[in-house]
Amino acid sequence: MACWRANSDDVVATTTAHFVFVPLMHHGHLIPAVDAALQLAAHGALASVVVTPTYAARLRPAVESSGLPVRLVELPLDLAGTDDVDRIPLDQEAAYLLATSRLRGPLERHLRVHAPPVTCVVSDICHPWTTGLASSLGVPRLSFLGMSAYCLLCLQTEHHAAAMHSAYAAADPYWHLMPEEPVEVKLPTAPPGFMRLPASEKLAYEKLAYAVERACVDVDGVLLNTFLELEPGTVVDSGEVRSVNVWAVGPVSLFHQHEHQHVAALAARGNAPAVDADECLQWLDGKEPSSVLYVSFGSSVLHGRPEQVMETGLGLEASGHPFIWVVSPENAGQDQDEEVRGFLEDLEGRLSGRGLLIKGWAPQQLILSHASVGGIMTHCGWNSTMEAVAVGLPVVTWPHMAHQFLNEMLSVQSMGTGVSVGVEWLKEEDGEVAVVERGAVEKAVRSIMGGGDEAVERRTRAAALATKAREAVREGGSAFINLRRLVRRYQAVMPQDTSTSPQIRY
Ligand code: UDP
Repeated sequence: MACWRANSDDVVATTTAHFVFVPLMHHGHLIPAVDAALQLAAHGALASVVVTPTYAARLRPAVESSGLPVRLVELPLDLAGTDDVDRIPLDQEAAYLLATSRLRGPLERHLRVHAPPVTCVVSDICHPWTTGLASSLGVPRLSFLGMSAYCLLCLQTEHHAAAMHSAYAAADPYWHLMPEEPVEVKLPTAPPGFMRLPASEKLAYEKLAYAVERACVDVDGVLLNTFLELEPGTVVDSGEVRSVNVWAVGPVSLFHQHEHQHVAALAARGNAPAVDADECLQWLDGKEPSSVLYVSFGSSVLHGRPEQVMETGLGLEASGHPFIWVVSPENAGQDQDEEVRGFLEDLEGRLSGRGLLIKGWAPQQLILSHASVGGIMTHCGWNSTMEAVAVGLPVVTWPHMAHQFLNEMLSVQSMGTGVSVGVEWLKEEDGEVAVVERGAVEKAVRSIMGGGDEAVERRTRAAALATKAREAVREGGSAFINLRRLVRRYQAVMPQDTSTSPQIRY
């Protein structure tokens, strides 16, 4: 059976480790958690992933086609008439998190009655209630964090606590993190989206933030989507700050480079794509190697503001390079801003053959794996940053909020594979953020996609990092060893029958 669903008929006794993943149901958290579950299953463990029915339906194709023992545990969650967290307004984020905490009872009942014995709970940092769940089940808990080791290090220090408080009070113009580090990191106060909660929700959020901090202390270890060779010092340091085991198991997206992954499953990773995967591949097949820029600002497609959409489009056009641009369906839809919709239609017409617009969910993993793609313009989400590393592509960095600024710093200054579009600070003035003009977009694109020594060196560095990433997940590599150790550490006391364990091959 490819996918072990969560009903009593499918219950099997396990002799191996059984990891129960409780992810935050946002694409950027859920996708890497599922990839990590697949990786552990590929190393001989059983994994369960707790999701609402809407997300289960999205994940099922990729999970089933893997042929690995990954169960989707479907638990209903009704908030404002939907269980699709990505459709819940930002100002209801805290209410969503509290609603999720009420899943504990049904989940515990399910795990006790209908699931093979659990040996470890792996939960998102935003689910502090899982501490109680794990202790009630009598098993250890790991935190799964969708961030770099450097970001974790910042979060773990006293400086983080001070930074959080100054952000709440909006007193300081900058957050100064880790001033003793060689590179001084600056983040804007309460960047858009990070603390964007109405005053009525603030208290609930602060209580939750406190619980999150406690839950982070109370763990048996932390699972990170990074690898030792990418952040050699910080992976180790981030564990030492609180004497916690840090397991660097990334890049988890490299699971999808397996030869058994079918195009359809790869295309459906995380969500149903808004474009026909075969047509997309045919379009890429017609392009020169490394010639296409992939432009995406993450799962929430943050570039919905009309002026920004137009400046971005004009900058891409002026760059002269072929591109795939993931635009928000809200900008392209029939009932949306007439001017932007018209602009996008004209652009598609003018650049027919050179620019492909995807209006909605893009099969990002599939696209990035194609040899014609030569660079990425990204909002610096940690997953996208790692996916760029995994396939060896240089990036134009365009952070929007929170830890994305740290990730930009890592890409540009530490890895040497990024060129900043020039966003130093996104100010919120009257609810508006500064628009990046077309000239800046064009310049950054030309710089990563063009010729010249710097561009060549950047590409060489990106290719070298990808080699290290593949080595990390290959047999004997640092992530491979960590995955193996995790499976052994959390396996049940019953003797393990290795003869039927699926083996990983890269
Ligand atoms: N993603 C995708 N198609 C899209 C948008 C996003 O496959 O159209 C995936 C992307 O590959 C990544 C995740 O969604 O794995 C986004 O995570 P990231 O941390 O980069 O950004 P976030 O969406 O959390 O801001």
